[in-house]
Amino acid sequence: MRIAFLGLGHMGLPMAVNLVKAGHDIVGFDVVPAALDAARAAGIPIADSGQDAAASADIVITMFPSGRHVIDAYRGSDDAPGLLAVAASGTLFIDSSTIAVDEAREAHALAEAAGHHSVDAPVSGGVVGAENATLAFMVGGTDDDFEAARRRVVHCGAAGLGQAAKVCNNMILGISQIAVAEAFVLGERLGLSHQALYDVASNASGQCWALTTNCPVPGPVPTSPANRDYRPGFAGALMSKDLGLAEQAIDLTGVDARMGRLAREIYKEFADGAGAGQDFSGIINTIRSEST
Ligand code: NAD
Repeated sequence: MRIAFLGLGHMGLPMAVNLVKAGHDIVGFDVVPAALDAARAAGIPIADSGQDAAASADIVITMFPSGRHVIDAYRGSDDAPGLLAVAASGTLFIDSSTIAVDEAREAHALAEAAGHHSVDAPVSGGVVGAENATLAFMVGGTDDDFEAARRRVVHCGAAGLGQAAKVCNNMILGISQIAVAEAFVLGERLGLSHQALYDVASNASGQCWALTTNCPVPGPVPTSPANRDYRPGFAGALMSKDLGLAEQAIDLTGVDARMGRLAREIYKEFADGAGAGQDFSGIINTIRSEST
């Protein structure tokens, strides 16, 4: 079974590397030459184009920044055919990007109309999860397509509900990363050491991923981005994007999600400023500098 892996960025590259390590027949592609160089150096065979990769594959996995990228690649343009047009009939399309629910449904409809199978399968676990092959996949699609895509996965329901689960999860994450950062800055002002606060909260009811994996201060969790000058990880721009998707879903459903809206506003400001390329835990520096 041949897998085309398209989008070899922060997440896609380590995911593709793990598929190669597990003995799968992979061919990769990315539109950015530097990503291709990194992939070649990591031992991933590279196709001449996304279309070439898809044409010879049984499964096409996409790991792109946004829904627009996914739909444009599926559809193609006047200059280049889309992935759906060149793939052999019955190819399984797995989109693991984090995109809007309606975009996921549109991508699914396009794939189905072109005679393919498709599932939305966004992931949670970050770059560390991608490197260690411990990502959780949230999958939406038909029962048959889900069975075909099954690995370490939760079937969240019909097409689009994988993205619904992802958007809810990342709204929790955005809010909790701000809460942890605020607590550390408050602790600093009160004279509490980072380690003391970490030791208490990580063993008490404040325990969460934003604290114990993505701790926003250097020291307590040596692998967290704070220890490498907030290099991502998960970039502030992507958190801002995901909270924008959450806000769309909040608007659509009329849910009274004030914390989700506030987190979106805070991360949008962060991403529009210095935080776009930093890990989203770098929000602590904004909170510290904005504090009187
Ligand atoms: P990234 O920007 O590092 O990688 C995306 C890659 O897709 C880029 O290298 C880009 O050049 C490539 N690309 C775009 N259009 C393409 C096309 N038509 N053909 C081939 N390649 C194309 O982003 P990332 O951090 O790897 O995130 C990818 C997706 O995963 C996003 O939707 C993000 O929200 C989601 N995600 C990221 C994380 C994280 O921690 N970084 C965690 C969970 C989910």
